[in-house]
Amino acid sequence: MALSGLQIFKLLAKTNCKDCGFPTCMAFAMQLAAGKAELDKCPHVTDEVKAELGEASAPPVRKVTIGSGDYAVSVGEETVLYRHEKRFENPPGIAVYVGDDTDDSAFEQKLETFKTQEFERVGQVLRAKMFAIESADAGRLADRAKKASDTGAAVVLMSEDAAALKQAAEPIKAKKPLLYAATAENFDQVSAAAKELNVPFAITAPDLDQLAELGQKAIDGDFKEVVLDPMSANLKDALRDQTYIRRAAIKKKFRALGFPTIAFPCKMTDDKNLQVVYAGVFVAKYAGIIVLDTSDPGHLMPLLVLAQNIYTDPQRPMQMDQGVYPLNDPSEDSPVLLTTNFSLTYFTVAGEIEASKVPTWLLVMDTEGQSVLTSWAAGKFVADAIAPFVKKSGIEEKIKHRKIVIPGYVAQISGELEEELSDWEVVVGVREAADVPRYLRQMTSA
Ligand code: SF4
Repeated sequence: MALSGLQIFKLLAKTNCKDCGFPTCMAFAMQLAAGKAELDKCPHVTDEVKAELGEASAPPVRKVTIGSGDYAVSVGEETVLYRHEKRFENPPGIAVYVGDDTDDSAFEQKLETFKTQEFERVGQVLRAKMFAIESADAGRLADRAKKASDTGAAVVLMSEDAAALKQAAEPIKAKKPLLYAATAENFDQVSAAAKELNVPFAITAPDLDQLAELGQKAIDGDFKEVVLDPMSANLKDALRDQTYIRRAAIKKKFRALGFPTIAFPCKMTDDKNLQVVYAGVFVAKYAGIIVLDTSDPGHLMPLLVLAQNIYTDPQRPMQMDQGVYPLNDPSEDSPVLLTTNFSLTYFTVAGEIEASKVPTWLLVMDTEGQSVLTSWAAGKFVADAIAPFVKKSGIEEKIKHRKIVIPGYVAQISGELEEELSDWEVVVGVREAADVPRYLRQMTSA
């Protein structure tokens, strides 16, 4: 049963040392009780208290990991309903569906496409990491599961037959496949297979009351890695069910629904473009795993980008390390451009510089991940901060000229910066990254 903030407080060290990031033990206890802090943030909790608080401090949506290695997909562990309240923790796993209506050559094709669909965006590699294999034929299920697993993918095994699930999971159990699914009829068999193989399993029921009953059964059986499928028939029902489940887990601390969910756009429509639209809804609200009948990069990329955006911590912009970035093999005569360490800014500017093929030094200043105009407005990207950064960056040892190009959006600081950097010429560059190649070519051909 969940403990109150006061009950948790009584178990803490009560020193108000602030090591947890909260001003007092009481503040930390209240946040812990609300599911908005993690127990391990307090380094002074004894093992006995950890054991006592274990269940109370578990996140309201439990964490479940499917797969292993680079393609392991961890879902759940969420503590808020809305991203701006704190952040969303684990982006949904995107699974490529393979059913009995997929013939062997189409399956091979999906395996091949799966291996190659990979995108890099703002320094992160994005890809679908899962296959969902369904078959009424136990042999085919096992065979395809093995082939899918051999690509590295995390695998969801789908069958109504608990014995078939076990047979397919056994050879790949080290890679933690998800058994889908336990129903009211076969709960005991599927959960027993999951326990024996030490793998997670999904539960499914035709309404949320019955789903909660199975969720409670899983809790009573001490199963922690469980995924919920509310069997929603269409997008409207699915949105309602996903929202009810999340609200019950977060607001009511209702443990029986405190597990991540799985959603099947592939079962709602045959139109693959529409599946992507549905999946976009599930990325935002609130699926842990989303199963699509496509491995086409054109379908997957927008979803992965959407998930990346939504699951980025809104209080901590993605940022680069401060420093001097050599692009296109620059020399001591190459131009020097200055920008901020907001990742999106860096990768946009760096991408344009690389496309220009002009050897360039890019100076990236730590502005706590803020963009050029935002950091200027916040007083972080201003002359008396930029000048010491340039001096200490080491750029002066790499070049023999003293000319620095600042972003066009902060033209107003050029005079002051020239005063601060008295031996440098400060040049106002372009405003938009898209204009950088033209600007660099003109600059270097002059
Ligand atoms: S780190 Fe622990 S002991 Fe220190 S203030 Fe936070 S809760 Fe209290």
